[in-house]
Amino acid sequence: MKKEFIDMLERCKICKPGMCCRDGVEVTKEEMKRIEAFGPKIEKPWFEPIDPEEISESSHVDTTVIRNGTCVFQAKNKLCVVYGVRPNYCAEFPLESGEIAEHYEELCLERHNI
Ligand code: SF4
Ligand code: SF4
Repeated sequence: MKKEFIDMLERCKICKPGMCCRDGVEVTKEEMKRIEAFGPKIEKPWFEPIDPEEISESSHVDTTVIRNGTCVFQAKNKLCVVYGVRPNYCAEFPLESGEIAEHYEELCLERHNI
């Protein structure tokens, strides 16, 4: 793995604000089922439909709800309460298909100094 990728992943390990979760995430039906089966103790709704004009991938039809300014699954301590079953995009971020994620600057670097 390239050094720049390793540096990014190291930053995530010490990141307290978890700013990249503020916008929530688009999900597939399979990812929603996985989270439903896990059954986090969070008030519903957890998902809502994406505006059809803003769907980025055909498999993504819903997005996680934003509540109190962040993804509904981000706890007060900024950790993800569905971490073990989180959507694939979250699991790979800040990478995306092995490269730096398209939205890394916007979701991470522009939001805080690390
Ligand atoms: S991508 Fe950025 S905001 Fe998200 S956990 Fe890593 S360092 Fe924190
Ligand atoms: S599902 Fe978890 S990791 Fe993904 S945006 Fe929501 S809180 Fe963050």
